[in-house]
Amino acid sequence: MSTIHSDTDVLVVGGGIGGLATALALTRTGLRVRLLERAPEFGEVGAGMQIAPNATRILDAWGLLPEVLSLGVQPGNLVMRDGVDGTVLTRLDLADVRRRYGSPYVVIHRSDLHGILLRACRRGGVDLVNGVQVTGYEHLPQGVAVLHAGGAEVAPVVVAADGLYSVARRLISDDEPVSSAYVAYRGAIPAATVANMDVSMSDVVVHVGPHSHFVQYPLRSGEMFNQVAVFRSPRALAGEEGWGTPDELDAAFAGCSEQVRAGLPLMWRDRWWRMYDRDPIPSWVQGRLALTGDAAHPPLQYLAQGAVMALEDAWVLAEHVRAGLAAGRLDWDAALAAYDAVRPEHCRRVVTTARSWGELWHLTGAEREARNAFLRQRDVRDYGFVDWLYGPTALTPGQEPAMFTPQRLALPVGA
Ligand SMILES: Cc1cc2nc3c(=O)[nH]c(=O)nc-3n(C[C@H](O)[C@H](O)[C@H](O)COP(=O)(O)OP(=O)(O)OC[C@H]3O[C@@H](n4cnc5c(N)ncnc54)[C@H](O)[C@@H]3O)c2cc1C
Repeated sequence: MSTIHSDTDVLVVGGGIGGLATALALTRTGLRVRLLERAPEFGEVGAGMQIAPNATRILDAWGLLPEVLSLGVQPGNLVMRDGVDGTVLTRLDLADVRRRYGSPYVVIHRSDLHGILLRACRRGGVDLVNGVQVTGYEHLPQGVAVLHAGGAEVAPVVVAADGLYSVARRLISDDEPVSSAYVAYRGAIPAATVANMDVSMSDVVVHVGPHSHFVQYPLRSGEMFNQVAVFRSPRALAGEEGWGTPDELDAAFAGCSEQVRAGLPLMWRDRWWRMYDRDPIPSWVQGRLALTGDAAHPPLQYLAQGAVMALEDAWVLAEHVRAGLAAGRLDWDAALAAYDAVRPEHCRRVVTTARSWGELWHLTGAEREARNAFLRQRDVRDYGFVDWLYGPTALTPGQEPAMFTPQRLALPVGA
């Protein structure tokens, strides 16, 4: 039996960062938003995340930046070190980044960001519903029916933020998640644990190693320390099932610098995340159903833009809705078409560049040496490679980002 919630203008499916951001942005335009999440409680599993100026600008517009800054950390630099010899290769001065882009670079515990968005949704009156697993969608003259164990509910517009394995995406594309054969281990620990170790409590440090990288940064006003260890799994490459286990973690970093090896025993060893993305698709809208967040554009996380893109999606969609409402009549088809005209192309660039960025980080042998030589001599005030991400100006159609990827540096990418 289908239920029409006559008091719902938009139904959002998925209560991760993407779904909550969408619900919040749309409710701020005055629309009545209902959100369905399959988990029995709202929450986020994981550790820290980096939020670049292109998203802190949006959080500021939503009035959430003070809370984000109070729970997060504004690092001084993004430092890249060679994962084997430990030397500094290059850096990004994040105080300068703040001046250039008018908004800070923040690292925050993902449950803190999720909590901030959740509380804002509650304050905004979003109808937040747990324990509802959506199993399908049907287009109807009056909107979209969302199917679940309790029956079906119909809304004029549905935005699916149901993540990497999105049910909604199946209506739009028959693609599957793409395995990178890389796996991530995480660990957020009390800062006191690393007090006597050679770590920075003010910077984000990325150690780029052969087929691996290791990220470290402070969290929660410096009370916690976050580490992410990412490596290519030989078992995944061999097509074996049980890949990414702790023995592979230890083997992957055995030849790395002392700083990396010292951090390794502090990782959570009972869970790990296999890294998938999807090939970009040119459209995320079908009738009155739209995709957002990882459902639309799951990236490899190497540019730290996955959640950031989800926040941007929410803001862009809501701005088109707001423009329609300001003109006196909300034309959903026009708003969704405008959203679909800009977001897939930007996110295509992010997803494909993140793949190349990972290749650059993970080079071995002579290619690694050539990369290091290039990075050591680069001007640290050269922002050409992040202007298109952090700045307010979009690239023109057909233009590709000026990243120093292996392809741009004419470095062959080893197997
Ligand atoms: C190791 C790692 C590090 C990362 N670091 C960063 C970073 O520094 N910066 C950054 O911006 N991004 C980062 N990311 C990416 C970022 O975490 C994701 O892009 C982002 O969390 C996606 O949010 P989402 O809400 O779209 O999807 P998800 O977080 O996957 O949320 C989907 C939600 O939908 C619910 N759901 C799913 N299916 C259904 C269904 N059928 N019915 C109802 N509910 C459903 C799920 O329970 C979940 O709550 C990182 C990712 C990884 C793996």
